Amino acid sequence: MLDTWTIGKTNGNAVNTAKAKGLPPLVSRDPGKRSIVWVGNIPIGGDGAVVIAGPCSVESREQVMDTAFAVKQCGAVMLRGGAYKPRTSPYDFQGLGEAGLKILREAGDEADMPIVTEIMSEEDVELGCEYADMIQVGARNMQNFALLKKLGKTGKPILLKRGASATVKEWLSAAEYILHGGNENVVLCERGIKTFDNSLRNTLDLAAVALVKEMTHLPVVVDPSHATGKRSIIAATAKAALAVGADGIIVEVHPEPEKAWSDGEQSLTFDNFADLMANLRTPIRQVQICPEFAVSM
Ligand code: PEP
Ligand code: MN
Repeated sequence: MLDTWTIGKTNGNAVNTAKAKGLPPLVSRDPGKRSIVWVGNIPIGGDGAVVIAGPCSVESREQVMDTAFAVKQCGAVMLRGGAYKPRTSPYDFQGLGEAGLKILREAGDEADMPIVTEIMSEEDVELGCEYADMIQVGARNMQNFALLKKLGKTGKPILLKRGASATVKEWLSAAEYILHGGNENVVLCERGIKTFDNSLRNTLDLAAVALVKEMTHLPVVVDPSHATGKRSIIAATAKAALAVGADGIIVEVHPEPEKAWSDGEQSLTFDNFADLMANLRTPIRQVQICPEFAVSM
């Protein structure tokens, strides 16, 4: 389901930006409007930002079930987990496939949370739609046009990750494929891009988040786990994401990150996740105000 609401004032700059850049029409229509994508009973793009959490890969029933209840207890509203894993090496764990989808569905039902999971090919669309509440198109498949077209024919909410080397325009054009097919339930996800700097796994492009919020009515969430690859700075970057206007964050959490079958270095422990949630609730740092001007602020 998709709702639309108008933000306080229509931003004239947004209209001009969209026109000047020759943006795809469906994603950039109605500047000044915001779409809400409903995933089950969870609105993404409304007043409150959402937190989506769960393991990188589905490994076992116990692992997913424990994680689902732990993150729910801290306030997460959706569960993530991968059953089809896009791995750089064919020798790495590729995911449990349908068995993983079943585990994720069961955990979502038990913990009463909608689930989001990645599918990688057209062939998996039917199965993905059967089990999941939201389908993730991963960074590596952002321009898998056959997949995007097929997902455009479903009514499923789609989490469309930005390709690691995709421009904002390419990312929005990928979203356009899904909308063009008739499915308006698209949430964009910034997950870091490749730059000259290799001090982190990727470079989190928060300016692009603020920019796409101007250019499109679609909700935007941020994945600080894949963007940074580094557990210790995930809370800080998650908070920064909300500060620039993200509609939510998606983070990886694992009962024992050191034993994770994928992405352990960036996975939060349950305690880390509790700290992150507490941190997201505290105000952003105060600005020092020059005393002479304090009255007029
Ligand atoms: C993931 O979410 O586990 C994942 C592989 O993400 P990305 O496509 O952003 O690399
Ligand atoms: Mn991962």
